[in-house]
Amino acid sequence: MKTDYDVVIVGAGFSGLYMLHKLRELGFRAHVFEMGDGVGGTWFWNRYPGARCDVESIEYSFSFSDEIQQEWNWTEVMPAQPEVEAYLNFVCDKLDLRRDIEFETKVTALTYDDASWIVETARGRRVTCRFAICATGCLSAPLEPAIDGLHSFGGTTLYTNRFPKGGFDFTDKRVAVIGTGSSGVQSIPVIAQQADELYVFQRSAAYTLPSNTRPLEAGELEELKANYADIRRAQKNSPAGTVRFGAFAAFIPNGPVTKIMDATPQERIKAIDDRGWLGAFLWSDVMFDIEANKAATELYGEMIKRVVKDPDTAASLVPHYPFGCKRVIIDVDYFETFNRDNVTLVDLRKDPLEAITPTGIKTSSSEFEVDVLVLATGFDAMTGSLLRMDIRGRDGRRLADEWAEGPRTYLGLQIAGFPNLFTITGPGSPSVLSNMVTSIEQHVEWIADLLDEMRSTGQTVIEPTTEAQDEWVGHVATFAFGVRVDPTCASWYLGANVPGKPRVYMPYSGGVPQYKAKCDEVAAADYEGFVRT
Ligand code: NAP
Repeated sequence: MKTDYDVVIVGAGFSGLYMLHKLRELGFRAHVFEMGDGVGGTWFWNRYPGARCDVESIEYSFSFSDEIQQEWNWTEVMPAQPEVEAYLNFVCDKLDLRRDIEFETKVTALTYDDASWIVETARGRRVTCRFAICATGCLSAPLEPAIDGLHSFGGTTLYTNRFPKGGFDFTDKRVAVIGTGSSGVQSIPVIAQQADELYVFQRSAAYTLPSNTRPLEAGELEELKANYADIRRAQKNSPAGTVRFGAFAAFIPNGPVTKIMDATPQERIKAIDDRGWLGAFLWSDVMFDIEANKAATELYGEMIKRVVKDPDTAASLVPHYPFGCKRVIIDVDYFETFNRDNVTLVDLRKDPLEAITPTGIKTSSSEFEVDVLVLATGFDAMTGSLLRMDIRGRDGRRLADEWAEGPRTYLGLQIAGFPNLFTITGPGSPSVLSNMVTSIEQHVEWIADLLDEMRSTGQTVIEPTTEAQDEWVGHVATFAFGVRVDPTCASWYLGANVPGKPRVYMPYSGGVPQYKAKCDEVAAADYEGFVRT
């Protein structure tokens, strides 16, 4: 059967762009649908003030083209949003990708029919393709918080994950920020510098470390570029797909050897005297022993007290859940911001949020009148962007039903019952536990090799077996223990931030090299675990 395209790709972020390029190189007729009016995905939508990557620029970039990595000039160690977005536009222009991207076109449904997929969009377009590839990102389905009166607010409501393109001027404004995950923690210091008054509504305090970002020094970039071959090789062999680790560099390479539980109170304090914030966590038992984890959090609290002058505020800023169960944040002057006269922390664990009113926010003890409400309340992560499309596979089965108890994939790449559908960095792959760009490149190249091989052998349909999928899901689940699934921690890795979402630890935690080895083994064994016809 003739289809409109060989492949339709949903999304024009890092993964969609590289997938398009790779498929075009191989001579496939590929087409991208993108919801935004520009490329970038995460880096297109999350343009809130202070948005910055937590992987170093030199590694948070494509490795597939030496020309691109030599031509592009990063200016900072940890890149800010505008620079990553500009980089992706540069890549897009350099590879002439735009001509195959249909912008402002949201895909609403994917339906499998007769060895092909029907793709429907919100604009009423309906096209067919042999293969459909979801390059929809892990953190791209914005979560609207379930707060009474949310839509009654009469001022300006802004979402960090859909921030206005031209920015927003907070000058002379009374502002409320709800949410203190990465997006809140990064935006709060910048908003505080502009706003008249800033109220920070915190339900869970954050583990955040100074990003230590700085401009790249003269000659530094050139030296890094000269060593790119080694850096890229090392990235691929590193569990997290990154070797330089920015703010977290001190955790690497071999990790600490001393246990906090064996350290005297004086030795613990000396650790933060000598090593600052990292001194709180650089102990070998912190991730393995919950008492050690609590002791580390106490030390972290000591560090906060050293910075935040008001003792009640400092106490409220100490997390109530274990270190390591949520993604650690990088910030610029987050704790220092709470010493400003125009910034107030509202601890929702002591004074719960009751409602949003037409003029502001009501907690159980107070009312806060504000002009602007900034919602930094996160995402329906990893599955949200897939399940918000109506995806129907073989015999009309709905992905939403298949995943009612949590996502099930083979290798995070394909789903039994959904032939010829691929997920780049899908649940069950390292994705968010790694440098996304490293993992994206690995997936794109694996999928491209497969499609190329299928074309050369005349095969048109591929689907994993339920047995292979069950086995993989079971393997991924063996890593869901300890702090990762701590009941006090509402992490999005676990789906615990979304009311009613099944609690399943979604990413694969075995590390990038082990995962890649498994994917390569599967391919070498004639795509073991998949059925091809
Ligand atoms: P998030 O980590 O899920 O944080 C959402 C925040 O909103 C949490 O503090 C949450 O509190 C709060 N919240 C949600 N609903 C609420 C309600 N009804 N009332 C009060 N508070 C509420 O989301 P995010 O900050 O957007 O970050 C998501 C992920 O994106 C990050 O973990 C990271 O992987 C990625 N990201 C990365 C960067 C970076 O690399 N630099 C920057 C931004 C985002 P609870 O914790 O109590 O639920």
